[in-house]
Amino acid sequence: MSSNGDSPSSANKRREFLRNTALVGGGFLLSGVAGRLGYQGGVAQASGPASWAELKEGEQAPFAQYCKDADKTPNEACPDRAKEERKDQYCTNCMFYNKVKGEGKEELGTCALAMGIQRLVRGPGWCQSWVKKA
Ligand code: SF4
Repeated sequence: MSSNGDSPSSANKRREFLRNTALVGGGFLLSGVAGRLGYQGGVAQASGPASWAELKEGEQAPFAQYCKDADKTPNEACPDRAKEERKDQYCTNCMFYNKVKGEGKEELGTCALAMGIQRLVRGPGWCQSWVKKA
């Protein structure tokens, strides 16, 4: 007998039921979040182009003033990047950037601001959320 008067087996069954309910509930919660993110078996994709590195001219940027090539002038996508104090800022030296592949102008990486969504940004790109890599 347990301290609340239940037999050990009914207490175990209740514990098992609660654990399974929590697991199923957690699974529904996760599937709801994944569904909103467009999770499709392995790689979560938000709506829009699969890679921000492939944004076309004039296409909506994921972050304020994201541009694929920070050095392009004039650059309508990221006019603030033209400021003198920002001339050395690129995705490659931003704290949110992680290199995936490529070199130089062809380098691609992930941006942590994408909150785990697998999308690539261009190394030589930039956006207004740039923060110096430590
Ligand atoms: S937050 Fe940093 S890595 Fe992400 S797009 Fe902006 S500059 Fe690039």
